Amino acid sequence: MYVNVLIETKVKSNNMMFTYHASKDVCDNIIGKRVLVPFSSRIVEGFVIEFTSLPTNYEAKDILKVIDDEPVLNEELINIGKYMSDKYLCPLIYTYQAMLPKALKANHKVNDKVKTLTYVKLNPFLDVSNVKIKSQIEIISLLKKNKNLLKSDIKSKSSLKKLIEKGIVTEYKKEIYRDINATETKKEVILTKEQNEISSRIKQSLGISKVYLLYGVTGSGKTEVYIDVVKKVIEQGKTSIILVPEISLTPQITARFKGVFKDKIAILHSSLSDGERYDEFRKIKRGEVKVVIGARSAIFAPLKNIGIIIIDEEHSESYKQENNPRYNTLDIALKRSKTHNCPVILGSATPTIESFARAKKGYYNYLELCQRVNKKPLPKVEIVDMKNEIRKGNKIFSSLLINKIEDRLNKKEQIMLLINRRGYSNYLTCPNCGYVFKCPNCDITLTYHKTSGMMRCHYCGYAEYKKSVCPNCKETDIRQIGSGTEKIQEEIKEIFTDAKVVRMDADTTSKKGSHNKIINDFNEGKYDILVGTQMIAKGLNFPNVTLVGVINGDSSLNIPNFRSSERTFSLLDQVIGRSGRALKAGEAIIQTYNPDHYSIVFASKHDYKNFFVREMLVRKKLNYPPYCFITLIKISSKDFNYGINEAKKISMFLKNNLSSKTSILGPSIASVLKINNNYNFQVILKYKKDDKLYDTLNELIKIYEGNYKVKIELDFDPINL
Ligand SMILES: [Zn+2]
Ligand SMILES: [Zn+2]
Repeated sequence: MYVNVLIETKVKSNNMMFTYHASKDVCDNIIGKRVLVPFSSRIVEGFVIEFTSLPTNYEAKDILKVIDDEPVLNEELINIGKYMSDKYLCPLIYTYQAMLPKALKANHKVNDKVKTLTYVKLNPFLDVSNVKIKSQIEIISLLKKNKNLLKSDIKSKSSLKKLIEKGIVTEYKKEIYRDINATETKKEVILTKEQNEISSRIKQSLGISKVYLLYGVTGSGKTEVYIDVVKKVIEQGKTSIILVPEISLTPQITARFKGVFKDKIAILHSSLSDGERYDEFRKIKRGEVKVVIGARSAIFAPLKNIGIIIIDEEHSESYKQENNPRYNTLDIALKRSKTHNCPVILGSATPTIESFARAKKGYYNYLELCQRVNKKPLPKVEIVDMKNEIRKGNKIFSSLLINKIEDRLNKKEQIMLLINRRGYSNYLTCPNCGYVFKCPNCDITLTYHKTSGMMRCHYCGYAEYKKSVCPNCKETDIRQIGSGTEKIQEEIKEIFTDAKVVRMDADTTSKKGSHNKIINDFNEGKYDILVGTQMIAKGLNFPNVTLVGVINGDSSLNIPNFRSSERTFSLLDQVIGRSGRALKAGEAIIQTYNPDHYSIVFASKHDYKNFFVREMLVRKKLNYPPYCFITLIKISSKDFNYGINEAKKISMFLKNNLSSKTSILGPSIASVLKINNNYNFQVILKYKKDDKLYDTLNELIKIYEGNYKVKIELDFDPINL
């Protein structure tokens, strides 16, 4: 038999599939297994993708070794990979690498990743009557009582060794799964009338491939609906995928699911070790779990017989992978929905403009949860114009926010403060000559982190100790501009000396378990104030929080991106929703320099629908999605001049080949010119429909294949422009 093997090498090209000969004894069940094959003068690893016939005039070499006992890729995953490669024009090998846990990628020894325990048992066919030694008799009687024992549980090692040598006792290894120690929340699921109606509607369409957009205000209990639907899916003998933006950011929803579905659930954490991840993957593949909950890549869970796919917080940008393969999770969900004939639910309090537009047009089925479960009104929100505060000498905190914080501290209620920037100050500058400390590898300012005393690049990770002298003019009065989480924490402690303040950002949550600890401690009331980045805006539920303060409501407005208003609305709406989730009414304060901006005004009124109407006008006027599609062509080179020249050529090539209706913008400099010593340029394509798009882009990729001086990457529906 002949098979096509996808070679895994450092050379990333679209077509690394070659035909090999598989001998009869390995042919069985070989599709989807990894194999070793000779390739040029080396031996490399590859995936067996399909059976094929021998091409004429081709001498196929033999497969040297089959690595796996069981295929790591099933037929569905193999097809999804091909689909992704065609849709995103990326090398096929990338797609399988994105699907599989690290332990199954090339050059990882799988067997090292399987954890086993050694057990011992009696050999039933051997006569034990002639054993006379007391310690050996003891072991035998122990094994008669307990059929299987852990080898480590038997005390007399030497006697056991003798019995094993005689063949009376045999030892064997048994695979075990690592305990990933997921927290469980036990809480009875009782649906409100509204939740019940929504759930019934979804349950009626189980077995049909269709998309629901579930719009629900924060606190309306989408999780209850999800759980109720998944219970029904399990009753029907089917499986479920639940996607959340980032497990570590949404521990509470995960804990709810774990509490209900116990051992039937696999959790794909980003902080799992390679071994833990591989264990969860095997559980799923062997059909030992019914529900998979996880971040983006969990959409590839090798479940059979999928009954529902739920994408919670569907607006989250984490559903788009930002490196190759640059896939959109929804595309894969739709593909699987068609394969399995199951519905997809997109849930959000702030759906993307594109999703809401599709629901309005009837492409998606629209469902709405409009009541908060606790029947409490949404928090009262006040907007503070910081331009006035600056005149009063209030640089960071407005008088209103300070008064409200004091009030809550007196009432023993809790406060959350959002500052969407980590570190201490945004950047350091010399007041004398204007010198700004920048990363030597990237065209970006270094952020000062006071705790570590370092200046860090948030792009490439470069760090150096803070300098006290300007390298340009020797000035010693270096100024810190702007504030990050560290500074807010420090300032708040200075004003309220007795308040207990905890900080949650990428720096304080990098250690395993630290994120959960902050959440649990805050929940138990060990802290009064939680200061954090947008991490604190998502999915958290603290009953005693009655005040949310947004320190700088503009931070996401000022990014040069057509989605900046949408991001701002979404972030503000989510963080405001953290206030007053239980019995006590909540309040929120937004500090801003743009108090009249529509995304801030509508967020303060919890008015998604009018925000949507307004934002659609802007998108239409400027011709942005959903009024068109965007594809980004990224061009990067270590050599500035070479890069810009190739970018110009690419733009010209596209103009000559694409439909005249497609707008080709650029080349322009990417949002950050230099990252990690690479200069970045881009060309933007805007189109409604262009029949020549794929052929042209494919040709472009071919032109640059093998050109190592410039790197071309395509990004369909990009998040960042
Ligand atoms: Zn200077
Ligand atoms: Zn850098």
